[in-house]
Amino acid sequence: MNTTTPTLAQALTQARTLGLERIDAQLLLLHALARPDAGRAWLLAHDTDALGPAVHEQFMGLCQRRATGEPVAYLTGRKEFYGLQLAIDARVLDPRPDTETLVDWALEVIAPLPAPSVVDLGTGSGAIALALQHQRPTAQVLAVDASADALAVAQANAQRLALPVRFMQGRWLRGVDDRFDAIVSNPPYIAATDPHLAALTHEPLQALASGPDGLDDIRTIVAQAPAHLIHGGWLLLEHGHDQAGAVGALLRAQGFAQVQSRNDLAGIARCTGGQWPTVK
Ligand code: GLN
Repeated sequence: MNTTTPTLAQALTQARTLGLERIDAQLLLLHALARPDAGRAWLLAHDTDALGPAVHEQFMGLCQRRATGEPVAYLTGRKEFYGLQLAIDARVLDPRPDTETLVDWALEVIAPLPAPSVVDLGTGSGAIALALQHQRPTAQVLAVDASADALAVAQANAQRLALPVRFMQGRWLRGVDDRFDAIVSNPPYIAATDPHLAALTHEPLQALASGPDGLDDIRTIVAQAPAHLIHGGWLLLEHGHDQAGAVGALLRAQGFAQVQSRNDLAGIARCTGGQWPTVK
C-alpha cells in the first residue's frame, strides 16, 4: 500500500497518532468524504477502501486543526443537538450535549401548558430555542442574543429547519416586553481568570466568560427575570460545574420558590432553576 493512498482504516489510525478521539476522527473522515449522513457504520463497512490523495490531504488538514483544539462542529459546519442538525460555525458556541439537560427540564415545566411562551436568552446557534420549538410546535418561542452574528446563524438554522422561532437582538431581557411561562438560558458562566478558557480559544469569548466569578450574566438574568415571568413561571439556567450552590442562592434571594438543580450527562449539577411564586 502506497502512503498516498491509505485505506480508510489507516487514515483513522494516522488521526489517532495526532491525538484525536476516535469519534472526532470518524466525523472528520465522513466530512472529508462528503458522506456526513452515511454514519460510522458505513465507515466500518468500508474500512479497506482506498482514500484518494486529495481527500486524504483534506482529512489530515482537518485532523491537524482538530489537534489544536478547533471544535469538530466548526470543521464540519454541523452539529446534532436534540435530534436536530444545526449549522454551526465560529460565530457561535459549539452546542454541548450537556445542554440537552436544560431542554429536557424546560419541556417538563411547559408540558402541562397547551401553548407555552418561552424565551431563550443568549441563543447562539439557536440550539435550545429550536429544540423546544421542534418538540412543542404550539409553543411561542422567542430567541434573544446580543450578537448579530449569532442571530444570523440561529435564524439560518430556523429557516432551514422550518421552525417558527422569533428572534430579537438584545442584552438578556432588556427591551423584551412580554412575560413568559419559562425563561431558559445557557449564558456565559466561566470566570474570566479560569485557566480552562485557554482550551476554548476557538469559540467566542463573549459566549464563555462572565466576570471575575463567572456569574455576572447569571446575576443580571436572575434580577431581570421576575418582571418577565408569569406567576408560576420558571427560570432555568445552565451554569458551571461548581456554581449550583451560588446560582440557587441568587434565585432564593430574588424570591424564587422550588429552587432545584438538574445533573448533566456526567452527573454534575449543571442546571439550576426556580419558579416565580403564584400569588396567594
Ligand atoms: N460548557 C462550556 C464549557 O465549560 C461553557 C459554556 C458556557 O459558558 N455557557 O466548556
